[in-house]
Amino acid sequence: MNDPILIIGAGLSGLAAAQTLHTLGEPVVVVEKSRGPGGRMSTRREQLGEHAVSFDHGAQFLRAHDPGFRQVMDAWERDRWIAPWRGQFVRIEGDTLVAEEGRLRYAPGPGMNRICQEYADRLKEHVQYQTRIAELREEGGRVIASTEDGTTVGAFRAAICTAPGPQTAQLLEGFRPSLATAAASTTYAPCLAAMAAFAERPNVEWCAASIKNGPLSFVAEDNARPGHQQPLGPSRWILHASSTWSTEHIQEDPEVFAPLMLEAFGQLPGVKDLDQPVHLRGHRWRFALVEKTTTDSTAKVEGTPPVAIAGDWCEGPRVEAAWCSGVRAASAIRKALT
Ligand SMILES: Cc1cc2nc3c(=O)[nH]c(=O)nc-3n(C[C@H](O)[C@H](O)[C@H](O)COP(=O)(O)OP(=O)(O)OC[C@H]3O[C@@H](n4cnc5c(N)ncnc54)[C@H](O)[C@@H]3O)c2cc1C
Repeated sequence: MNDPILIIGAGLSGLAAAQTLHTLGEPVVVVEKSRGPGGRMSTRREQLGEHAVSFDHGAQFLRAHDPGFRQVMDAWERDRWIAPWRGQFVRIEGDTLVAEEGRLRYAPGPGMNRICQEYADRLKEHVQYQTRIAELREEGGRVIASTEDGTTVGAFRAAICTAPGPQTAQLLEGFRPSLATAAASTTYAPCLAAMAAFAERPNVEWCAASIKNGPLSFVAEDNARPGHQQPLGPSRWILHASSTWSTEHIQEDPEVFAPLMLEAFGQLPGVKDLDQPVHLRGHRWRFALVEKTTTDSTAKVEGTPPVAIAGDWCEGPRVEAAWCSGVRAASAIRKALT
């Protein structure tokens, strides 16, 4: 059997690349530094007393702009991985609250990581967690990947790197210089997230709000998401801070910024007499939303053995872009190998 193709990262772009290659009969190995799949589409699990609950603290929903991705979403909907997220969505600007109608959002259920988990389950033992690739080099016509302590992960026929742009730039520096330069040109806005759980549903008129001009940019009721209801458990809410506020507070500890975000939640229109939460946790997404992508979305491959880059930072700040770039990188690598 051929040596496998290495994919760095088990976020959606890496898993879309791996799934595409796997379906074509190519052996793959996906290496992920975290304990599970999903990346920025992950789901945090917590035990709150007797209740096992989850929080979708990263990406919130999906939309399709590209007809090809629309078809992919249709298939996910048929398989019941995603469903329309119905409920009272509002836009808030200052004290003004406007109901949003006619904009259909889809969300995976029971958690945001459903899609990545499904793909990872299909790839089974070909996904290796808790392994951070720290170095790539070439030896005997193969890509050799190793971790920080020098352990070799394997020898590969080709590689696709989906770590965020700045991290990909470091990995590929001196190894695939033109890809490293493309990756280094990307920029991101951070996003601070707070996960709050209340004993009872707070008095909130809506289930999700997009907010302009304030500390928060988005608030959503996690229990109201499709396939997500945990009716006996506490009422769970996700708060996302705006890019400006996140940049100003990124150095603070979660114990400092999460209560400030909760206070801002309590002051939004349509929210009355917010009780103290039974659980409040903060999370820093340093590379959250792509502000500047690489210069074009053509899948780039460099060198022999071939290496490609993929990720939302190649195409745009959303789930759809991550998926499309992963599939494009997989096709480009396959072409380079034939
Ligand atoms: C707070 C927030 C809200 C968002 N909301 C939305 C939304 O509502 N709708 C939407 O469409 N998009 C949203 N996004 C963006 C969306 O989450 C991303 O576009 C998408 O998930 C990116 O997928 P990816 O595979 O490109 O990257 P990632 O999900 O970041 O995956 C990269 C993976 O690589 C791993 N990795 C990195 N370095 C290494 C290494 N050296 N070795 C091994 N593994 C490594 C990481 O752990 C990670 O799992 C949001 C993002 C955030 C943070």
